[in-house]
Amino acid sequence: MSNVIYNRVALIGLGLIASSMFWAMKRAGLAGEVTGYARSNETRETARRIGLCDRVCDTATEAVEGADLVVLCVPVGAMEAVMREIGPALKPGATVSDVGSVKAHVIEAVGPYIPEGVHFVPAHPLAGTEHSGPEAGFAELFDNRWSLLVPVAGSDRAAVDQLRGLWEGMGANVDEMDADHHDLVLAVTSHAPHLIAYTMVGVADDLRRVTDSEVIKYSAAGFRDFTRIAASDPTMWRDVFLTNKEATLEILGRFTEELFALQRAIRTGDGEHLHDYFTHTRAIRRGIIEAGQDTSAPNFGRGELGRSDKS
Ligand code: NAP
Repeated sequence: MSNVIYNRVALIGLGLIASSMFWAMKRAGLAGEVTGYARSNETRETARRIGLCDRVCDTATEAVEGADLVVLCVPVGAMEAVMREIGPALKPGATVSDVGSVKAHVIEAVGPYIPEGVHFVPAHPLAGTEHSGPEAGFAELFDNRWSLLVPVAGSDRAAVDQLRGLWEGMGANVDEMDADHHDLVLAVTSHAPHLIAYTMVGVADDLRRVTDSEVIKYSAAGFRDFTRIAASDPTMWRDVFLTNKEATLEILGRFTEELFALQRAIRTGDGEHLHDYFTHTRAIRRGIIEAGQDTSAPNFGRGELGRSDKS
């Protein structure tokens, strides 16, 4: 029995997420043919060399011609220009989706360029690594991770369900959410934590009283995970903060208040406050493990110090 969900899929942008989608679609036989396009010749050549996509095209319009599903896999700030270019080449009845980490902005930027008769179903897989580019992807990236579908007003139910089938076929659990709520949830769970990690690594770099070699040598205790997050793609994260401004600023405002309260507890020797706070946060960590979204193995399941895993 065939598992094919779309006869033709076009991936625009061939980085970590697009390449993982390609390998995940291949693993389960979810697409008849997958075409791909990346803006640089270098990425297109790499894709051809490693067999990423059944056909790598030299233009985005060529890649989307005849496609039943087109997925925008470029940084959030680049989506509008890409959509403007491919809009006129889309097949009537096709679905356009994306994998951007911010949703309200993408809907506002991309929506106006969706032609009559083409469906628009934004999406966001909550899975990634700090690696980017066409060689970073792997078929298991979405396994047991959430992928959020963010249908827009008037999204066709059948088009939404078909895309749900694709994400489930790629191993993901699927939920639907509205765009503003998505952006607030992601500000808490991903965007603000990334900014905090970037800041912490910047502070360590700035603090000359702790030498660079000490930071590297003794980084097992917490700091190493900050450095992993802070190694994430600069373009992607610049765009996330520029386009999810309000929700991120709201969460950072609350973060600052909590930080001040903890700072005060330390200064005044309020051990009870600190203990209660840490007991509460420990329960949240247990909840994440129980929900199957992380491992309880010591050191995040890494075998040896100094070796990082893929997620
Ligand atoms: P990536 O590995 O850095 O790949 C980005 C791709 O977009 C590359 O093919 C790049 O082309 C292309 N691109 C970059 N700037 C462009 C521009 N101005 N115009 C046209 N194409 C451009 O990125 P990724 O991690 O796959 O992320 C892609 C999308 O997924 C982003 O919207 C991101 O927010 C979202 N996302 C990322 C993660 C994650 O953890 N990484 C998780 C979930 C969702 P060249 O190679 O030719 O430069």
